[in-house]
Amino acid sequence: MKIYYDQDADLSLLADKTVAILGYGSQGHAHAQNLRDSGVKVVIGQRPGGPNWDLAKENGFTPLSAAEAAAAADVIMILVPDQHQRAVYEKDVLPSLTAGKMLLFAHGFNIHYQQIVPPANVDVAMIAPKGPGHLVRRVYTEGGGVPCLIAVHQNATGKAMEMGLAYAKGVGGTRSGVLTTTFKEETETDLFGEQAVLCGGAAELVKAGFETLCEAGYQPEIAYFECLHELKLIVDLMYEGGLSRMRYSISDTAEYGDYVSGPRVVTDETRAEMRKILKEIQNGTFARDFIMENMSGRAHFLSMRRINAEHPIEKVGAKLREMMSWLKK
Ligand code: NDP
Ligand code: MG
Ligand code: MG
Repeated sequence: MKIYYDQDADLSLLADKTVAILGYGSQGHAHAQNLRDSGVKVVIGQRPGGPNWDLAKENGFTPLSAAEAAAAADVIMILVPDQHQRAVYEKDVLPSLTAGKMLLFAHGFNIHYQQIVPPANVDVAMIAPKGPGHLVRRVYTEGGGVPCLIAVHQNATGKAMEMGLAYAKGVGGTRSGVLTTTFKEETETDLFGEQAVLCGGAAELVKAGFETLCEAGYQPEIAYFECLHELKLIVDLMYEGGLSRMRYSISDTAEYGDYVSGPRVVTDETRAEMRKILKEIQNGTFARDFIMENMSGRAHFLSMRRINAEHPIEKVGAKLREMMSWLKK
């Protein structure tokens, strides 16, 4: 695996270019400000009326409509939510997408599942920071960078990789490393990771542990700290030095329990289900369901959001976090 660092990327490739950032949300605000601080000319395409329009102005940009920004730019990074990208692309980007321009994404969904099929005469690449947007900004201002994935889907100009690396350098990615991938690999592993491990798996594990303790009559406050709050402290150790660093730091009692009980929680049945989840990502079932859900007004999505927000762990957590003055509201 080739990993690119600062010395492998040439920011001067962007010197005479204009970069449009469409969507000033989590990723958009970070890419836009990091690129500007790296000396790149940036225009913002952001619809008016919401807090992100105000934020772009507060941050010293003059936000344009997505169509105006796309028309003014040589490099167009689409950072509106995945479910809106196709409509924004068709309405606002395609009309001014002339030969030799570059289209960028931070996630492969719409290209991989063919919701967006760009003309053959433009470059298409992905710069996907492996971290939430607010970290992409904060780490950059601290002199670091969030690692990124890079993939080239179309190389019409012959310069797509070099241009992508220049962009990655502008957002700070080459400071910690830019790894090569494909749209297929990024899309499928990203969806699998967030569903099985990071978001779906972790949230359900936390809830199941909390419910088990509460059902057995333990106080919900104790269950909250044990199953949710402490997870961050454990994950921080994993982040710093892998599972071994975590196991070095915990007690021998915890470490022994980890080895004997962990595999009883994540069982062969769980692994079989993980394989099914991956299969449904690979064969497009998940993508189809998500696209259809969005087309039909999100009845199921919004119900699941409401039901989860009403879970007792959220009530007790809100109360306990009131006292944690160091947490951002
Ligand atoms: P957000 O939801 O945080 O932000 C989306 C932005 O797009 C908002 O400013 C929103 O404006 C704007 N927007 C929404 N709809 C439209 C529209 N129809 N026309 C113009 N602007 C619109 O998105 P994310 O930053 O989370 O995601 C952007 C991309 O980055 C996605 O492809 C995602 O998969 C990828 N990504 C995200 C990560 C993250 O950290 N969140 C991590 C890595 C990749 P408004 O405020 O008015 O709604
Ligand atoms: Mg994702
Ligand atoms: Mg303990």
